[in-house]
Amino acid sequence: MHKFLRNKSITGSEKEIQVTTSTLNQTDEQDEVLILGGGVAGCAAAIALARNGRRVTLIERETTPRHKVCGEFLSGEALEDLQLLGIDVTSIGAVPIDYVRLAAARRAAEAPLPFPAKSLTRKALDTALIAEAVASGVDVERGHSVRALAHTTGGMWQATLDDGTTRAAPTVFLATGKHDLRGHARAEDPQRWVAFKMYFGLAPAQAAELAGASELMLYPGGYGGIQPVEGGIANLCCVVQQKYLGGSGNRWENFLEKMQQDCPHLAMRLAGAEPLLAKPIAVTHIPYGYIRSTTDDGLYCIGDQAAVIPSFTGDGISIALHTARCAVAAYLVAEPAPVFQTKLRSALQAQMRLALFAADGLNNSFARAVLPFFLRAWPGVMRVTAKLTRVAQHSSVVSHAAAV
Ligand SMILES: Cc1cc2nc3c(=O)[nH]c(=O)nc-3n(C[C@H](O)[C@H](O)[C@H](O)COP(=O)(O)OP(=O)(O)OC[C@H]3O[C@@H](n4cnc5c(N)ncnc54)[C@H](O)[C@@H]3O)c2cc1C
Repeated sequence: MHKFLRNKSITGSEKEIQVTTSTLNQTDEQDEVLILGGGVAGCAAAIALARNGRRVTLIERETTPRHKVCGEFLSGEALEDLQLLGIDVTSIGAVPIDYVRLAAARRAAEAPLPFPAKSLTRKALDTALIAEAVASGVDVERGHSVRALAHTTGGMWQATLDDGTTRAAPTVFLATGKHDLRGHARAEDPQRWVAFKMYFGLAPAQAAELAGASELMLYPGGYGGIQPVEGGIANLCCVVQQKYLGGSGNRWENFLEKMQQDCPHLAMRLAGAEPLLAKPIAVTHIPYGYIRSTTDDGLYCIGDQAAVIPSFTGDGISIALHTARCAVAAYLVAEPAPVFQTKLRSALQAQMRLALFAADGLNNSFARAVLPFFLRAWPGVMRVTAKLTRVAQHSSVVSHAAAV
């Protein structure tokens, strides 16, 4: 087994040397914590652990942050957690979102959000998080994909990378987001959701109408959201069940046209708009409603690897940050990972149930048909739903987390 260590030369510059672990003192030289995945949850955990004096290695498969499928809505809780991590989202371009607007058939209604919110591209957010992790002393290894993770007989976790090298540590934080590692997969996704993200340059009048708002649109088989992000552009992010996408020949162009037919509000927004990516970014297998119930000793699962809330809540990033903070707190007080994971599950269950219930409503054809007639009542309902689907701060999980 090989391990890369940082070796300072006499001149003070750093170079990497490869040694075999058999030559090392196992406890002194092995990383205390290995973090797999350098997205929101992985970076947040890495930063917090490094600031608490832990030696951390983070492995991220991309060499530089790329666009990810995400509505890029940052809720009030997400903003608070990011601030605690030292990320000033406004200085990197985040734009305020003050309203949420629901569009069904030919009608739309809006309500002010009951908490401060912003939007920021994931590329900008992930770039800032990785930079903060490096500045906090995390050893960030980019451009390496973890292929396997196994518990060795010596009680260590061993990650095997795509180049065949291995990294070992007694504790691992699993933060690979939407991508499962073999042997640690999450539940099936029976609806076979497919998600797309596309950036558009809107016509000036439409951009002005959209300013400060996050718009949710309903159509058969799914829902989508459009909102402004930094740089004067709009993010259209949508989800659809595979069986409905099949009706569009599994082609983005056809699906985009169908969404606009079913939701004229979207057609209005996109009139004269210019697509800014050559093709949309897509992802499949989104097990909405999943909450991990068990784990092994020394393996803390965070972010989308811990729980996957329906996207319309705009709460996934907040949950990623929250689960990272709680897991770090649990690790620092030596709470075993299986105990932490069970507590986290109970803490998230009520919000998840409510979010799933609301998502079922949005996806229900009867609800979609009658919703336009109830839009007047919607703002009130929406305010309550928005509040209730926020992450609950379960006392036993949070009592440790407050200290991080
Ligand atoms: C359609 C859609 C819209 C959404 N909209 C919103 C929204 O508006 N607001 C919101 O708050 N949430 C939203 N979410 C949810 C949000 O995107 C996720 O919950 C959040 O990104 C989870 O963070 P994470 O750190 O777990 O995963 P990620 O941020 O995805 O990070 C995982 C990282 O792991 C890396 N990785 C993966 N596999 C490996 C491997 N084998 N080896 C090494 N590295 C690996 C990836 O490259 C990635 O950088 C949306 C989700 C979907 C599907």
